[in-house]
Amino acid sequence: MKALVIGGGLAGCEAAWQLAQRGVSSCLYEMRPGKSTEAHLGGGLAELVCSNSLGSRFSNRASGLLKEELRQLGSLLIRCADESSLPAGGALAVDRKAFSQAVGHAIETHPLVEVIREEFIKIPETAGIIASGPLTSQALTESIIALTQESQLFFFDAIAPIISRETINMDIAFRASRYERSESEGGDYINCPMGKEEYLAFVEALIDAERIPLRAFDDIEKEKGDECKKIFFEGCLPVEVLAKRGLRALAFGPMRPVGLFDLRVGQRPYAVVQLRQDNLAGDLYNLVGFQTNLKYSEQKRVFGMIPGLEQAEFVRYGQMHRNTFIASPKLLDETMQFRTKGDLFFCRTDCRY
Ligand SMILES: Cc1cc2nc3c(=O)[nH]c(=O)nc-3n(C[C@H](O)[C@H](O)[C@H](O)COP(=O)(O)OP(=O)(O)OC[C@H]3O[C@@H](n4cnc5c(N)ncnc54)[C@H](O)[C@@H]3O)c2cc1C
Repeated sequence: MKALVIGGGLAGCEAAWQLAQRGVSSCLYEMRPGKSTEAHLGGGLAELVCSNSLGSRFSNRASGLLKEELRQLGSLLIRCADESSLPAGGALAVDRKAFSQAVGHAIETHPLVEVIREEFIKIPETAGIIASGPLTSQALTESIIALTQESQLFFFDAIAPIISRETINMDIAFRASRYERSESEGGDYINCPMGKEEYLAFVEALIDAERIPLRAFDDIEKEKGDECKKIFFEGCLPVEVLAKRGLRALAFGPMRPVGLFDLRVGQRPYAVVQLRQDNLAGDLYNLVGFQTNLKYSEQKRVFGMIPGLEQAEFVRYGQMHRNTFIASPKLLDETMQFRTKGDLFFCRTDCRY
């Protein structure tokens, strides 16, 4: 009998691969491209919808150590990430398309994995792995709610804009990775420096900018007031939400200038917006830590205040999505098996944890 793996994202592909390495055949169900999610763009397996960075490369950091352990365990995802990596200082960042193609090729050509392009709508009765991720389809979500007997749990998560490299004004922006002291060290990131006055004006504009209304969020905001802050993922707050927490919150967060020197003027800027290469061709860059839910026209206007991005062309605007999760510590045991149905596993990969 074949094992069932539901969801051909990062987690599902790794699960099917690891089963195959142990001689176990599986059916991997992926609903795209027939039915998509709000954030995925294509039909490829293991499509990264969010940041293209998988976190630190250094094994003395938690996420770097985790990747090293995965590498030693023969992880397909880490192998494909290494093969499709981009210059990103101490981070393992990937070309999304090359990464998805590499994982897709390995899975779709594996004799022990059958990929079925269909939505799976209810909890399987036989042994299975649920890897349908934060954007699980509504039908399967309802089946999970019925199984867990919990009302739906969710939070909001956002993605950052991607812009065209040739529209960045390099007379203002400069290349450097943090803690580099000379230009010869490479400079994987493009940095847009800000003085104090520019920074304060930017923060003010960000706080006042119009957001895209989110019906579910606005209902909760009305009902719970300040409590609704909890429905954002703290590790990845929209930049406008972070800005509201204090005038210098961004200067100590995604816009921190630590370790960055503008060698042309010989000083550290007051604040910096960093851009990371997003594809192998090097013609797309994403704004690091700038996940946002501003209206598209507002993204263009407010992010256009960033020195060097005045004429920036947005290839993808930032967006916010509702993510579904389950209370794993309560419902799963330490091997990720559902406590009351031991042949059911849940898995999730998130580069930020
Ligand atoms: C807006 C947003 C921003 C994010 N930002 C980040 C970030 O910056 N860093 C980070 O590490 N993570 C981020 N994440 C989380 C990110 O999604 C995960 O890191 C990673 O993609 C999770 O892998 P996964 O395999 O669990 O889910 P996914 O990669 O989403 O894969 C799940 C797959 O299951 C499929 N599927 C869903 N329902 C069904 C069904 N019923 N039947 C068949 N197929 C189904 C989907 O089409 C999808 O391909 C973000 C998520 C969202 C939504």
